[in-house]
Amino acid sequence: MKKCDRCGELVDKAYGTTAEGEILCFPCCARKDEEELLESGNSRKVLLYYDFEERATILGTLTVAVIKNWPGTLKFDCFKFKKGKHNIGDERIDFWFKGPDDFVWYGVHYGKRNSIVHCKRTKKSLKKAL
Ligand SMILES: [Zn+2]
Repeated sequence: MKKCDRCGELVDKAYGTTAEGEILCFPCCARKDEEELLESGNSRKVLLYYDFEERATILGTLTVAVIKNWPGTLKFDCFKFKKGKHNIGDERIDFWFKGPDDFVWYGVHYGKRNSIVHCKRTKKSLKKAL
């Protein structure tokens, strides 16, 4: 059995490995990714992906765009997204969501071969607005 290098939790096959070779359980992957986002204000060192989730609400099923890390343990609901075309005919999707710091974060995805979203913090704070 392997152990998480951060919290000591035993992990079986479900763990992530950092660039430095650390073994992290999924909750610690979320903590590390969140720390990195908070520190740098962008996702240059954290791979973030988009997904669409169906949620049951009182008004029926709602499709919500989410931005998440690889194990899906860090996840942000988007309050807005916009599908469009990139200049070479590829797909482009823009996302806006409330980041880990109560700021609006903006993400953009290009192409169809992956679902990676490049995200960064904007200057807009949601602390007072919401
Ligand atoms: Zn851990």
